Amino acid sequence: MERLWAPWRMEYIGQAREGEDEGCLFCEKPKEGDDEKALIVARSELSFAMLNRYPYNSGHLMVAPFRHVGELEEVEDDESLDMQRLMQRCVKALKEAMQPDGFNIGMNLGVVAGAGIPDHLHWHVVPRWNGDTNFMPVVGETKVLPELTAASYAKVRAAIGT
Ligand SMILES: [Zn+2]
Repeated sequence: MERLWAPWRMEYIGQAREGEDEGCLFCEKPKEGDDEKALIVARSELSFAMLNRYPYNSGHLMVAPFRHVGELEEVEDDESLDMQRLMQRCVKALKEAMQPDGFNIGMNLGVVAGAGIPDHLHWHVVPRWNGDTNFMPVVGETKVLPELTAASYAKVRAAIGT
């Protein structure tokens, strides 16, 4: 796939380099104390929602438990429920903020399945629009996004409330 203008990709690469010695992204980001900088759009009791710096599509966010856990079968019942409820809030907010036609929601367990951070599981919530399939390659090559992450953050954060 052709490389197109992709500022979010540079941001992501820079971020990854800075974060090399910092351990787990999903453990560190909530502790940084600056949710806007961390792209965290919402927190609940046991989990949080954060926009992906390297999104498959505009508004692509991830829902993860605060607890460092990588195996699905080790997630506690209250954490599962908390994440489900937070995902419902996210879907509602994304519908309001971005009017998508549908969603892909799923989890990649293990590096072989595409998990970038296999040790701390997280749900992907990806808004979809009719006709966006041409822009959403499964292999995750660089593509053009209609909206930058900062703009998505402001819209979703406003819609999701506290
Ligand atoms: Zn972690």
